[in-house]
Parts: sequence; structure tokens; C-alpha cells
Amino acid sequence: MAISSFLKRASSYLHGHPACFKALVLVTLSSGSLVAYSDSQSETDKVSLDLNQKEQKKKKVVVLGTGWAGTSFLKDIHVSSYDVQVISPRNYFAFTPLLPSVTCGTVEARSIVEPVRNIIKKRNGEIQFFEAECVKIDAANNKVLCRSNLDQNLGGNGEFSLEYDYLVIAVGAQVNTFDTPGVRENCHFLKEVEDAQKLRDSVIDSFEKAVLPGLSEEERKASLHFVIVGGGPTGVEFAAELHDFIQEDLVAIYPMVKDLVRITLIQSGDHILNTFDDRISSFAEQKFQRDGIEVCTGCRVLGVSEKSLSVKVKSQGEIYSIPHGLVVWSTGVGTRPLVRDFMEQVGQGDRRILATNEWLRVKGSENVYALGDCATIDQRKIMEDILSIFKAADTDNSGTLTVSEFEDVVDDILIRYPQVELYLKSKHLMDVTDLLRDPEGNERESVDIEEFKSVLCLVDSKTKSLPATAQVAAQQGTYLSKCFNRRQQCQEHPEGPRRFSGSGQHHFRPFRYKHFGKFAPLGGEQAAAELPGDWVSMGHSTQWLWYSVYASKQVSWRTRVLVVSDWARRFVFGRDSSRI
Ligand code: FAD
Ligand code: MG
Repeated sequence: MAISSFLKRASSYLHGHPACFKALVLVTLSSGSLVAYSDSQSETDKVSLDLNQKEQKKKKVVVLGTGWAGTSFLKDIHVSSYDVQVISPRNYFAFTPLLPSVTCGTVEARSIVEPVRNIIKKRNGEIQFFEAECVKIDAANNKVLCRSNLDQNLGGNGEFSLEYDYLVIAVGAQVNTFDTPGVRENCHFLKEVEDAQKLRDSVIDSFEKAVLPGLSEEERKASLHFVIVGGGPTGVEFAAELHDFIQEDLVAIYPMVKDLVRITLIQSGDHILNTFDDRISSFAEQKFQRDGIEVCTGCRVLGVSEKSLSVKVKSQGEIYSIPHGLVVWSTGVGTRPLVRDFMEQVGQGDRRILATNEWLRVKGSENVYALGDCATIDQRKIMEDILSIFKAADTDNSGTLTVSEFEDVVDDILIRYPQVELYLKSKHLMDVTDLLRDPEGNERESVDIEEFKSVLCLVDSKTKSLPATAQVAAQQGTYLSKCFNRRQQCQEHPEGPRRFSGSGQHHFRPFRYKHFGKFAPLGGEQAAAELPGDWVSMGHSTQWLWYSVYASKQVSWRTRVLVVSDWARRFVFGRDSSRI
């Protein structure tokens, strides 16, 4: 070691003094050792120079967010090709589908989170993580401005900026209050781990408050009236969890108030779980009725105060004031201010939600991608390209399309416009070429442009936007990392569909979502599931399916073991009602 460091120092000195170098080479030529060292050193320099050049060539990717979309992107991105930096105000990934279980202590908060650094350490430490919030995206200068949320410990104001070649926005969404007065101040939300923890404490507080001496019966009742606004999967699951918690654990330890407890679920639509199959919706409503959970459909909340909320029954137009002990607001999500500001910069100011193309690239930007809940894919309409498709397919320029000409472009059409497949399914058409039949269903040899337009004009009505779910976000993260990893390869050998307006092919196939089904736990060890192929399953066996799917979907063995042991603990000892 000592010799090598001496030689290194001598070598660098000699490199700086060429005359001395030559003399020394002459003197030591006989042994040859120094020459050999010098050679090998310059070889090392060359290698490190090459590495440096490669390093410099690496494009900088900045990822905002460590939720479902961000972490699934990070798991697969090739760090050998990119210099990756991640920003998130939370240094963990949260398994959000189990958040409702945290609100009642069925599982502990720490069992559903995985430190980001555990996830990225598997990538040989080459991904850099900064616990900070991105406060501004400067699209014109390819920069993001960030602020650490640990700023009280920092010298400056904790702000720093990062440059990027590619930006991946995966910051999720925020709760949507629809500007209803009093919601921010007086309601609980169920979006983050902290929300779930706070909710757990507040439920127990409501019980402790209700048993305090000196309260009237009305006050006790009000304190134990739990109201959930929003009959989507999260609201329904929370109502079910709360009902189980109260019936299985709390009534036994607060027997004096057990008859005063009420749970009300308020839904503005006509049914709860209205994005699910009708059978599931009515199964849930019937189960809730048996359980004594009051379901108020067709009602709109106009405002929430500390002690009551005002509700309008849409059909009658009447407004009621309902006293409450706790309100959980779960009515959907909206765009974060950071994303809204960025939308203004890229000419999307008039939109409600950030739009990307089918390859997840933000519209109006060349190097920014957005995935997960913060964006939506703006699916290209087939009617916008109808002339180009016709022209590209009509290879003999006859002004008509024969079946065989249509067959030549059909695969590209199906990849580029997924709505075509949905349309075929809805019309029970087996073969795409059946589209070319005339209105009476007779086969046609060929169609002209007007006929071609009329057969495809209804297809775009089947365009569907993807739901804001973990499944979509995770699949988008994986898809985008694969595109990044194969950027070079696909530039040379494109694998996407042909460009109808333009020449050549798209580099990649567009993102295609694969639906694996969805669950709605309904309490009492029962759940409902909608699985691919319109398969619906409900009851106790579905709850076991839910347990196995959610255990298998955990991001690490550590959280898997913790979650399963929490479930086992709950079965044996019940839930913990301490407020700590
Ligand atoms: P998120 O997972 O919300 O992640 C956003 C990330 O961005 C976070 O790390 C956040 O800290 C970070 N961030 C926020 N602001 C900034 C900023 N300014 N700068 C940098 N980083 C930032 N989906 C299902 O498919 N199945 C379910 O059963 C299900 N259950 C759910 C239950 C609940 C209670 C909730 C709230 C959601 C549920 N979802 C479910 C929906 C699912 O959680 C979301 O669709 C999913 O989290 C979206 O992933 P995302 O990566 O876009 O956003
Ligand atoms: Mg022709």
C-alpha cells in the first residue's frame, strides 16, 4: 500500500515535470519496474477517463414521488444507463390499499410502509434519494426546485434545485373537497398514513368522550355518530372496518354506550360502489342494512362544521343538519398545486388533470413523463386520423379499401386505438373485418372513405380513461422503466405501431393497462370481488382471496410477515384500543 501510494505521488509529480520524467526513465530503464508502473497507471487513467465519459453521457432522470408509480419505475430502471435522483417528502412507500385497516388497528401503520432506501439499496446504491418536496417544476430550464422538510436543521432555507434530462412526475393526487365549506377544517381524510393514524386516535377519543360524566344523552349520541362522505371503495371499506372495530372490540369495553353508536354513509350517487358491478353494489347495500350502517344515497353535503354537517337530499331539495362526532371525507381526488402550475407552463392550463399521450409523455413537453394518479392518458381518437388511416391502407390508391387492404393495417389500428377492441366486444363482433359489413350486416368487397368513416364513427365512444388506482400506477411505472431501458434499442429497431400521420413506426408500443380485478372488503369477514372476464364473487371465501392477494402484493418479505402477523394478532387478541 505504502509503495503504491508513493509511486502514485511520484508519478503525478513526474507527469507535472516532463524533464525529470525522461531522466528518471533513462536511469531506471534497466529494472523496467517504474516504466511498467507508469504504463499501468496511464492505462488506469484511460479506463477511469472512459468511465467518466460514460458517466457524463448518462442522462439525468429525476423522479418525483415514491408512491406506487414512482417505486415501480425505480425498481426496474437501469442505473447503468441513467443517473437517477428521487425526490419525495416521505422517505417510505405506503401500501395504500391497507390504509383503511390502519384506521382501526387491524394492521399497524409500520407494517404497511417500506423505507425507500430499502427499495433503492437493491440497486447498488446508485439511485440517489432526497427527502424533500418539489415546489416548482421549471419546464423551460429543465430544472426542479425542491425544499427539504427538515429545514429547521439546515443552514439555509433547505431549498435546492436539480437539473434533469428526463423528468418523471409521480406525485399522486390530493383530496378533493369540491370547495365545500368547512371540510378542510372539520373533516378527516384517508389518503396518507398519518391520516389513518389520526383517524384511529379520533375514533377512540369519541368513545372516551362519550363516557365522560356530565354529558347529556344527546351529546353522547352526537359524539358516537360517525359519518363517512363518499360511497366509493375507500369510504365503504372504512365504514365496514369501523363497524367491525366497534362491534367486535369497542362495545365490549364501552358497554354503557353501545346502543348509542351510529355509522352513516353519505353518497351523492344513487348507489354505493357505483364503479363496481351492480350485483356487488346491491350486495354491499344489503349487507350494510343488516349491519345497521345507514346508507344515505342521493344526498349532497353542503357544509361541515365542528359539530354538525348540512346535507341536501337531492330528490326533495330539503336540507338537514346532522350532528356528528367525526366525519371522514372520501370523495375522490384532485390535482396538486405543483402539477397545476406545471400544466400552465405546458399549455394545459384549461384542463382539469394533466394529460399525457399513450406513451405517458406529457402533452406539450418533450422530456417530461407523468404517471399514476397525477395524470391521465389522453387517448387519440380514431376519427382524428381517419383520413390518414384510409390513405395509408389504400395501397393501390383506388379510393376504396378492400378487405385485404384493411387487414394489412388492422393490427396497427388495434395497438394504436384500443377503443376499437372494446367496440368490437360491445358489438359481439368476432372479427375486425366484420366492421366493414354494411348496415344490414352484409359483407362488402370494399368501402370508400365515407363508408369507412361511418363504420368507425362510433368506435371512439368506447374510449375509456383509466381509474386512479394503485394497479394502474404500478403498471405505468414498470412500463415506463422498460421504455427508458430500451430507448436506444427501440430507436434503432422501432417496435410500436406504424405512424398513420407521418412515416415509419412509433419507437414503443403504447401503454396498455391489464386489469386484474378489484376488491371491496365489506366487513364481517366478507368481501366482494370483480375479476377479469366479468366474474363476480362475494362472501366469506372472497375475503380469504382478499387476504391472499394483499399478502402476496406486499412490496417486501418484511412487510408481508408484519401484515400477516398483524392479521393473526387481531384474530387471537382483537384490536388494540389504546390511544397512544
Ligand atoms: P401515490 O401513491 O399517492 O404517491 C405519490 C408520491 O408522491 C408520494 O410518495 C408522495 O409523498 C409524493 N409527493 C407528493 N407531493 C410531492 C412533491 N411535491 N414532490 C415530490 N414528491 C411528492 N388502489 C388500488 O388499486 N386498490 C386499492 O385497494 C386501493 N385502495 C386505496 C385505499 C386508500 C385509502 C387510498 C387513499 C387509495 C387506494 N387506492 C387503491 C388508490 C391508490 O392508492 C392510488 O391510485 C395510488 O397510490 C396512486 O399511485 P401514485 O404513485 O400515483 O401516487
Ligand atoms: Mg384500394
